[in-house]
Amino acid sequence: MLPDNSKSHTRRKFINKVSAVTLGSMLFGSYANARQDKKREVMNTKRTAGKLGIALVGLGKYSGGQLAPALQETEHCFLAGIVTGTPEKAKDWKSKYDIPDGNIYNYENFASIKDNPAIDIIYVVLPNALHAEYVIKAAAAGKHVICEKPMAINVEECDRMIDACKKTGVMLSIGYRLHFEPHTQEMIRLSKDKVVGKVKKIIAKDGMSKVEGWRLNKALAGGGPLMDVGIYCVQGACYVSGMDPIAVKAKEGPKTKPEMFRDIEQSLSWEMEFPDGTIAACESSYAEDMNLLHVDAEKGWFELSPAYSYRGITGKTSEGKIDLPGVTQQAGQMDDFAMAIKDKRATPVPGEMGRRDLKILMAIYKAMDSGQRVEIS
Ligand code: NAD
Repeated sequence: MLPDNSKSHTRRKFINKVSAVTLGSMLFGSYANARQDKKREVMNTKRTAGKLGIALVGLGKYSGGQLAPALQETEHCFLAGIVTGTPEKAKDWKSKYDIPDGNIYNYENFASIKDNPAIDIIYVVLPNALHAEYVIKAAAAGKHVICEKPMAINVEECDRMIDACKKTGVMLSIGYRLHFEPHTQEMIRLSKDKVVGKVKKIIAKDGMSKVEGWRLNKALAGGGPLMDVGIYCVQGACYVSGMDPIAVKAKEGPKTKPEMFRDIEQSLSWEMEFPDGTIAACESSYAEDMNLLHVDAEKGWFELSPAYSYRGITGKTSEGKIDLPGVTQQAGQMDDFAMAIKDKRATPVPGEMGRRDLKILMAIYKAMDSGQRVEIS
C-alpha cells in the first residue's frame, strides 16, 4: 500500500498531466482560433481591398432582399456596416454577412459612425418620411450618402438634404437603379437618336395590387402609389423624353377599399406636358399590377414591359425585339456611385434629380386635388 503522501503525489502528477493537456488544448484552441481569425481577416481584406464601405440604414425588405445580395457582387464597394433598431436583425446580419461588431449601429448611437473610417457611404433605406432626417445625419457624420426613392416627402426636405451634403462636402445620390439597366439605357438611346423618328407620346404605368404597413400611412409614406411606384413613370417619362415637364394634369381613381386608403389615393392617372409638346400619359395604382413604358414616335414605337422590375425587363420595338442581358441593377448603381466618389465626378442620379421628381410629384397632387392644370416652374 502506498503511503498517503505518495497517493497525493500521484494525484498531483495526474492533475498536472490533466492541466497540461487542458492548457495544451486551450493553447491549441486559441492558436487555432487566432489562425481562423487571421485567415478570415486576410480573406476579408482581399474581399474588401480598394473598395468603399457601405452601411445600410434600415434592414427591411429592400435592404435584405436586394441591396445586401447586390453588395456581394459589387466591385467598388462592399457591405461594411448596418444600422438597425432590432438587436435580432443585427445578430442575423452579423453572422450572414460577417459584419464586425464595431460596424453595427442602432438609431441611438448612429452619430458615432462619424468616427468609423471603415464606413465611406451611408445608404438610407427607411420609410420615406425618415429619409431627410437620416441623410442630414449622415452628411453631418461626413459620409457620402445614397438615399432611396422618393428622396423625401416634400421639396423643402430635399432642399435641406442637398444643403446639408453641400455644407460638409459629401456626395448625395438617389437609389434610381434603372439608370444602370441596359434595356432602359436602350430606350433612352432610341429616343435620343430618333431611331424611329421623334418621340410623340409616352405611356407609363406602374402599379401593384398588394400593399401593407407604412406605405398606407401618409405621415410615413408622404402619399400613396404615386410616391412609391408612380415615381417610376415620372422618371421614365423624363429620361425617355430627355426633358423636364412644364405642366401636369391629374385625376384620382376610385377607392374600392376606402377603409384601407383613408388618407392616400388608391390609384390615379395623370398627364405630363413637355416643352416640345410631347405628352406622357401615366397611371399608378395600389389596386392593380401594371408595369409599362411605351413610346410612340413618328415612324414607329418602342416599349418595355415589364419596365421597372428588379429582373426580367423585356423590350421590343416596331422593328423587333430589344435583346439585351439582364443585370443586377443595384450592383451597377452602387458601383457607379463608389466610382464617382473615387474619380471625383458627378453621379448621374444626384439629389437634384430626386428634388426635381418631388417637385413633379407635388404638382401632380396639387393638380389631382384642384382638378386644374398645374404649371411647374
Ligand atoms: P420595409 O418596411 O421593408 O423596411 C423599412 C425598414 O425601416 C424596416 O427595417 C423598419 O424596421 C425600419 N424602420 C425604422 N423606423 C421605422 C418606422 N418609424 N416605421 C416603419 N419602419 C421603420 O420597407 P422597404 O420596402 O425596404 O422600403 C424602404 C425604402 O426603400 C422606401 O423608401 C422605399 O421607397 C424604398 N424602396 C426602393 C426600391 C427600389 O427599387 N429602389 C424598392 C423597394 C423599396
